Amino acid sequence: MKIKMEHGAGGEIMERFIKEIILENIHLRNAGGIGLDELDDGATVPVGEGHLVFTIDGHTVKPLFFPGGDIGKLSVSGTVNDLAVMGAKPLALANALILEAGTDADMVKKIIASMDEVSREVPVPIIAGDTKVVDDKIGVVIATAGIGMAEHPISDAGSKPGDAVIVSGTVGQHGMAIICARESIKFESEIKSDVGPVWNIVKSVADAVGWEHIHAMKDPTRGGISMALNEMARKSGYGVEIKEEDIPVSPEVRAAGEMLGISPFDVACEGRVVMVVDKDFAEDALYAIQKQPNGKDAAIIGKITETYPKKVVLETVIGGKRFLEPPIGDPVPRVC
Ligand code: MG
Repeated sequence: MKIKMEHGAGGEIMERFIKEIILENIHLRNAGGIGLDELDDGATVPVGEGHLVFTIDGHTVKPLFFPGGDIGKLSVSGTVNDLAVMGAKPLALANALILEAGTDADMVKKIIASMDEVSREVPVPIIAGDTKVVDDKIGVVIATAGIGMAEHPISDAGSKPGDAVIVSGTVGQHGMAIICARESIKFESEIKSDVGPVWNIVKSVADAVGWEHIHAMKDPTRGGISMALNEMARKSGYGVEIKEEDIPVSPEVRAAGEMLGISPFDVACEGRVVMVVDKDFAEDALYAIQKQPNGKDAAIIGKITETYPKKVVLETVIGGKRFLEPPIGDPVPRVC
């Protein structure tokens, strides 16, 4: 078998590939907490009273620079966000930079400056790295690993019936920004990626309601909220009911989605978090998020239910109900 684009596109083909070619051939997959088999945003290692959270992300986005960000901002944000949605305060990052020979050094400097800016914003230091130069046509590839500490690790599987589902801002911005940049599609107002760190949002909710009332979290990256909610439904065993009219979508993303025939629910966010919170604390959690500069459009979009086990049900604007399926392929490849 030869590896095809589909093997990295999320969806069923990738799932089978990861299971049969990767997981089954790694024999030690767990360090005493959440491990490789859980396929969560990160893994946990119990240390003393707390839990070390460990994650890594490879970044291959095309183009390297896009409205709202670049591969540098994306690489630091993506890793910080995987730590944040595990309930971990980011402690340190490490970066591997793989560069094609002939890459412009000033461009690399710009990418590093973006990484530095996000690292200071969080803040989380970048304390280790590696640089390789190759003669293959790869452009710039960045792998970023991160460690964090969680007193109360949060998986993506912990939803309970009755819980509220919150999204921290408008969805689909990143994916649509990438497609429009790649295809040179212009709208009246430019679509900007939402790429950015969400640790401030997660922490504001934990400070307001306590970690124990956040039951599950995920950053809706590849496959968008459709993928994230379906994974959360499947892993918890419960259903998710959401209302289309309550899901925040910016007018320009809505317009782009209609024109391109791509649902904003199916494309990546890179600066959002989907949070499942005990319903009695949902309003307080929402209020805490809305006070953050990157959380002003946050909304409660639905609830966890026993009615549709492992499925996501969308109540449409006109009042009908349909299953929201995870996207089959990748509507937008090389988005992160
Ligand atoms: Mg993630």
